[in-house]
Amino acid sequence: MPALRPVWGTLLYAALYVAVLSFSRFMVVDGVGSAPPVSLIAPSAGIAFVWLASARTSKQLAIDVVLQVGLAAIVLLQTDGTAVQAVLMILTPIQYLGAIYLMRRWTPQLWGAGGRASLHRLSEFGLVLAAMTAAVLVYGVLRTAVGELVIPEETWSLALGRATRSLAAMATIGVLGLLIGGYLTEARDAGRSPLTRPTGADLANLAGAAAATGFIFVFGFGSNPEAPTTFMLTLTVVWIAVRFGPLVTAASCLLIGGVGVWLTIVDIGPIAAVDSAVNQAAVAQVFVVVMMVLGMAISLSRRQVLDTVSDLERSQAANARRAAELDLVMANLNDGVAIIDGNGRILHSNHALQTAFGTQEPEELERVREDIPDDERLIRGSDGEPFNDENSPLAAALAGETVAPEEWRPGKEDGPIKWVTIGATPLPPDEDDVPRAMVVLRDISAEKIHQDALETRAAELNLVIDKLNDGLAIVEEGGHYVQSNDALRVIMTGAEETEVFEGDVEPPSEHHLYHPDGRPMRDDEYPYLRAVRGIEVHDEEYHLRRPGAASQILHISAYPLRVERGTKRRAMVVVRDITVERSYQDSLASFAGTVAHDLNNPLSVIDGWAEAIEEDLGDSEDPIAAQAAGMVQHIRGSVDQMRAFISDLLAHAVARDQMLRTERVPLRNMVKHIATSRDKPGLRGGGIVPGDLPDVWADRLLVRQVLDNLIGNALKYVASGVSPQIHVDSVPSGEGWVEVRVRDNGIGIEPAQRERVFDSFHRASQESYSGTGLGLAICKRIVERHGGRIWVEGNPEGGSCFAFTLPTTPEAFAAALDH
Ligand code: ADP
Repeated sequence: MPALRPVWGTLLYAALYVAVLSFSRFMVVDGVGSAPPVSLIAPSAGIAFVWLASARTSKQLAIDVVLQVGLAAIVLLQTDGTAVQAVLMILTPIQYLGAIYLMRRWTPQLWGAGGRASLHRLSEFGLVLAAMTAAVLVYGVLRTAVGELVIPEETWSLALGRATRSLAAMATIGVLGLLIGGYLTEARDAGRSPLTRPTGADLANLAGAAAATGFIFVFGFGSNPEAPTTFMLTLTVVWIAVRFGPLVTAASCLLIGGVGVWLTIVDIGPIAAVDSAVNQAAVAQVFVVVMMVLGMAISLSRRQVLDTVSDLERSQAANARRAAELDLVMANLNDGVAIIDGNGRILHSNHALQTAFGTQEPEELERVREDIPDDERLIRGSDGEPFNDENSPLAAALAGETVAPEEWRPGKEDGPIKWVTIGATPLPPDEDDVPRAMVVLRDISAEKIHQDALETRAAELNLVIDKLNDGLAIVEEGGHYVQSNDALRVIMTGAEETEVFEGDVEPPSEHHLYHPDGRPMRDDEYPYLRAVRGIEVHDEEYHLRRPGAASQILHISAYPLRVERGTKRRAMVVVRDITVERSYQDSLASFAGTVAHDLNNPLSVIDGWAEAIEEDLGDSEDPIAAQAAGMVQHIRGSVDQMRAFISDLLAHAVARDQMLRTERVPLRNMVKHIATSRDKPGLRGGGIVPGDLPDVWADRLLVRQVLDNLIGNALKYVASGVSPQIHVDSVPSGEGWVEVRVRDNGIGIEPAQRERVFDSFHRASQESYSGTGLGLAICKRIVERHGGRIWVEGNPEGGSCFAFTLPTTPEAFAAALDH
């Protein structure tokens, strides 16, 4: 809510109003007959108008109206006015309020009409004048009509004089007030000082105009009153209006007009020649209004022209900036851009365009369109066909068609190979109606080379896939084959049926897949399904039992594949037919078994007979017999050694070739078991202490062999008279792994020997300990086949510490095998 104007402001308006009204009351002439005296001028009407127009609230306006009417009545009574006249003062606000009301409707942006702007346009000034005229006429008619009722001498000519006075005052003082109010408000809103320092030229112009005016008044009005010098005053008004803004112009008009009216009233000058004082005043005031209108018309028009020019300059500068920015953008674009007209002229082109054509000269580019021999053409299609008016995107765009980017080859036929896409868009024709088009050219050579390389790689890969002995398929989430090779078809169907392994994935039953124990493979066990869910499947064994065909053993693996975000997940399935391999292995195992059995048999016979001889000789007192008994003992020792050697050799072969059957293996139980089995009479097993041992993911039989070998060695390699103490425990060794340690109090191993003891047949100890030198080599092979490591260190408490790592989870096992 705008607040009330400060009290001092209202007092200032009131004081000014009373002063001007009192002054004009002295400018009276006697009325006709008994009519009361009539004022010649009414400048107070201008003051009152600005006063009421400056009220921003209705409350303020009501206060101002009451004050204005009251003060007018008082001044009138104090200056010989009649009581009736004083009462009729109540009608005066009609003209001000009427003008303000119309201005609020017609020019609400102006200060005084509810807005904050000053007068800027000629049309605004016209509307303000119209509002004032309408309001003054309404007031004049009303005042005269009422006046005629109560004052018989009231005449319409008096009414005309009254209207002229009021209009002259409002159109000059009132308009100046609007200009000042608007100017101050605009200055405050823009945060600038309302006072500007006048330039030397301004001062010179003002001084010149003042001198000219003074000269006209002195020599025209004073010395030669008959000469029509009044019109010369319009020259000085024009002078001011051409050089200054509306505010200075209005003030000057008011000043010049005021002096003119004053001189007329005191009977000086050309207008004083008019017959009655009332008419003189009326003419003088019309003259003032004319000067005001003239001054404002020139000054406001000039201002409008200046505004338009400065708007134009601003928009020109903005256009120049836009053009500079556009040039910069074009220059830095990677795409070549050209604007070409129907006459083949290149109106605009950028650097990228020139380099794409392999030329630095813009003129060279003219050849793009010119009618020149084909072999000199700078551009040709992907089929080698030169660019010409029939096939070029440019020609199509010039004919009004938008061409999506298509592939072309710029440069001469024998030049370096380049590839580009060219797109073209029609542009509006120029002033002479010549069609224009924009061509955009993108160098895609690098992408092309990359794409070619990719295609070559893909072709190589397809060849590899096709020539693989393993069956391979790439399957998409949702069960759709993306790719499969011939080997897969041959393995799974025995023949080359083309319809399978294309399109949708069939259920396992249609492929006749079974677990080794005879259960059919369930749909959710499908390796590809698990891989699509992110789980790797390694060499799972399945049996393929096609009706009417021999059963096959398959190893199936499946791996999730990396795909771009947002696309369907994929898996690669690898199928290996191990039927033949398995049968080789089986025959090898049975061969080894047979050999071992066949060698063991004669050994048992030898041992049996040797034992019988030993017993027979044992009872004899004969010294030769005692000597023979010692020899028989040697025979039996060698038989034992040979038996151990055969069994170690067998284990070595099996450890290398046998397929791993992994499962969860509880180590602690296993160690306890070994301890018990070693704890037989004659064998030393009492000192085996199992510590903290986890479950591992490994082949049970092979792990048992490792622990058995290490514990056996620890029991064996102790100094005589020392009772063996063996600790088996573990420490974690990274995610999914454990390190198992077997520590003994034995004879220990020289640091130089610690690596070599794991070699086959290497023995570090003296001959006093029996052995084949294969045990640790078997352990090493088994641990490494599980992806682990084995080594030996000195035990700080004396003896050795054998350590090896094993996986504890299927994932760790699978990951280790991948490496
Ligand atoms: P073998 O025990 O049949 O000789 P191994 O491969 O088991 O064969 O052992 C290789 C050699 O490593 C052994 O001859 C022995 O010198 C040494 N060795 C193995 N275990 C120990 C142990 N716990 N303490 C000391 N030496 C050992």
